[in-house]
Amino acid sequence: MLQGGADVFSRVCSDLIGQRARHVYSGTDIQIGFDDKGFPTDKPYELVLQRDIEDLYLSPSQVFSIYSALGCSFGACTFCGSNRENADYVPRQIAVMLDEMQSLKERYGIACFNICDNNFDPDRAQYFCDELERRQESVFWQCTSRVYDTLDPTVLRRMRKNGCVLMNVGLESASDRILRMMRKGYTVAHAEQLMLNMEAAGMRVHTYVICGFPSETEVESKKTLDFLKRHLKRCHSVYFQDYVAQLATKVFAAHHSICLHEGPHAA
Ligand code: SF4
Repeated sequence: MLQGGADVFSRVCSDLIGQRARHVYSGTDIQIGFDDKGFPTDKPYELVLQRDIEDLYLSPSQVFSIYSALGCSFGACTFCGSNRENADYVPRQIAVMLDEMQSLKERYGIACFNICDNNFDPDRAQYFCDELERRQESVFWQCTSRVYDTLDPTVLRRMRKNGCVLMNVGLESASDRILRMMRKGYTVAHAEQLMLNMEAAGMRVHTYVICGFPSETEVESKKTLDFLKRHLKRCHSVYFQDYVAQLATKVFAAHHSICLHEGPHAA
C-alpha cells in the first residue's frame, strides 16, 4: 500500500475478503468527494470497544479519543512534526466525527471524548458547535489548539456551553524572540489575551511549555515562568517538555542557521 491511510486500508481488507486483492494500492483507490467546506466526504468508521479493558480503566467515566483531522491546519512551527512541509493536513468532515461519537454514546454510553487533533482550530470548533446545536446533542469533550485571536470570549463560551471542559494550548514560551524562532505566529501579548479570554469563558486550560529551545537564555526561560506565575489561577496545569529536535523538523534541519539569523540578543 503506497498511501491513503485507513480508507485505503479498509479497501484492501474488503478486497482480500472478496479475493480480488491487487499488489499495489494508493490514495486514488478511494473515490471521495468534498463537502461545501472543502472536507472529504468520508464515512463514519464502525468503532468497536474492546470490553475486557474496562476493569483497567482508572477514570470515573470512559473517555474515548477521536480525531477530526490528521496533521495541522496551521502547520508552520519549526520544531513540530506537523509542519506542513513535512506532513499533509487531512481533515475529515466534522459531521462524520459526530456520527461516530453518537454511535459510541448509543452503543456504550460513552459521553466524554478527547478530540486528539494536533490542532482543533477555532473554525473546526465552530463547525462542531454548529453540528452539536443542530442535532441538540450533548457530550463532554476536550481538545488541543494554539493561540488564536479568534478564540475570543464569545467563541470560547459557545464551546463551553457545548460541552468543552478543557482546552490544551501550546504556549511553548513567553519570549517573543523564541516564539518568532519557533514560527508560532503569535506574540506573548496574544497569549496573555487568550488567558484572559479563557478565564472570562470559564474554560479550564492545560498548557505546554518547551524548555531549552536552541539558543534560549536563562532570562527568556524566566520570562516563561513569570508568565505562568501571572496566570496561575487561569492556567490549571502545565506540561514542561525538554526540547528534543525531532527528525524531519525545520529546526532539526536548519538549527545552526536559525541560531545565526537571530541570536539571543535580538529580542
Ligand atoms: S506545534 Fe501545534 S500549531 Fe504548531 S504546527 Fe505543530 S500542531 Fe500545528
